[in-house]
Amino acid sequence: MPGFPEFQGHRSLRNSHWHSFPGGNDGFSRCFIKALIPDAIEGNKRFADIHNRRVLFPALDRESNKVRLRLSASVVRVEQEGVPETGRGLSVVYRKDSKLYRLKARSVVMACGSRLTRKVVSGLPAAHADAYTHFHVCPILVANVAITNWRFLYRLGFTACKWADGFGFGCNIRKPMYVGNYRPPLHPDKPTVLTFYVSFHQPGLPIEEQGERGRKKLLGTSYAEFESRIVGQMKQLFSEAGFIADKDIAGIILNRWTYAYVNPQPGFYFSKDGLPVPRDIIRKPFGRIAFAHAELNGHQHWVAAVDEGIRASKQALASF
Ligand SMILES: Cc1cc2nc3c(=O)[nH]c(=O)nc-3n(C[C@H](O)[C@H](O)[C@H](O)COP(=O)(O)OP(=O)(O)OC[C@H]3O[C@@H](n4cnc5c(N)ncnc54)[C@H](O)[C@@H]3O)c2cc1C
Repeated sequence: MPGFPEFQGHRSLRNSHWHSFPGGNDGFSRCFIKALIPDAIEGNKRFADIHNRRVLFPALDRESNKVRLRLSASVVRVEQEGVPETGRGLSVVYRKDSKLYRLKARSVVMACGSRLTRKVVSGLPAAHADAYTHFHVCPILVANVAITNWRFLYRLGFTACKWADGFGFGCNIRKPMYVGNYRPPLHPDKPTVLTFYVSFHQPGLPIEEQGERGRKKLLGTSYAEFESRIVGQMKQLFSEAGFIADKDIAGIILNRWTYAYVNPQPGFYFSKDGLPVPRDIIRKPFGRIAFAHAELNGHQHWVAAVDEGIRASKQALASF
């Protein structure tokens, strides 16, 4: 399967907690792209080249490619042609540059999570549609604070901390990952990134409402407000160890992750009152459509995404 042989080659990485990608999880997408369209990433098939060298974006969607990757295109409708079980294919409608396009597909993997899949797939069976109503997803803010040094943390003797009251619940710096010539030093007087995790749970509200209310807070709070709260939290935690905001902070990047983590209620993982488990229903294909996404694991991370993706890809290929 394209991309996966390379992934199998990194089996030790898969079983390791020692991964922290400087550019986020794009290392995985880069492996897939290199396998599908080799010349779309400069260099050869060494992981260091795949990870560090330039992506040649025009090469992703050339007419001569066996596989074409279309950027900035949002799928708005996926429809089975004929009876799902016996139909010969699918119609996929996507929007790009304010225009709608339709293409034919033999099978489809929906890998974009419950919030979109339930709206985009036309004629979803009642069991699938009902199962998706049991996915309640909460938001998270991941704030990356670029710091000129982490001497203040070093003085305290730690690289990560958690707290019960205040803004967010934890922050950490991580050992940088060395890939090829990319070898940033881990030294208290050198720059690094301090990552904050901020949840928006709303105790006391029904599970159905908590995610929506949290998203409103996450999206309705200005950058300046978040900045001031992050700096305030850092002062509270680190001032006594010599932290000076103006000197030590170089910049702050906010990642507003609106649909971050499933809140698994009773019945999500295991059957409750004899009812089928929602994620097991979604894992069954609907005609030629298979369903992936890390949400099905109940905890969104890259291993879950890969596991669900491999399973769904095999189901999609089997329906050819
Ligand atoms: C800030 C941040 C930090 C994270 N840190 C870590 C970490 O350190 N370790 C870790 O393991 N995980 C981390 N994660 C989580 C990890 O990125 C996700 O769990 C993983 O990417 C989920 O993969 P997926 O394939 O299931 O879905 P996604 O990665 O969400 O992929 C879904 C894809 O579908 C596309 N899409 C959506 N709608 C449409 C549409 N209508 N038409 C076409 N395409 C569409 C999206 O553009 C996206 O590319 C982090 C996530 C964030 C946001």
